[in-house]
Amino acid sequence: MPKAKAGKKTRKESGGIELGVFLERHGVGLNDEELDSPVPTPKPYKDPDLYEVCVMPKCGKLTDVRKDLHIDFRHGYIEGLGQLCPECFCGLDK
Ligand SMILES: [Zn+2]
Repeated sequence: MPKAKAGKKTRKESGGIELGVFLERHGVGLNDEELDSPVPTPKPYKDPDLYEVCVMPKCGKLTDVRKDLHIDFRHGYIEGLGQLCPECFCGLDK
């Protein structure tokens, strides 16, 4: 339960004590918020900076192929064109 005291005391001594209590409570409150904010949240989606994007203009879909993967090990990569997503690559085969 929150205390209903208004703190109307005018004496410096009482005021100083209340200010100290206030700062202490305020500081603790800020620390609690700071501890909550920097918690890293796991990303469910892939980072566009790490994965190739389908070169098909109509698609532009993020693929499962990492940019640092050698093209010899890539699936759906066409030299001179670029990386295709599996769907577009299968569409070319047909
Ligand atoms: Zn595509």
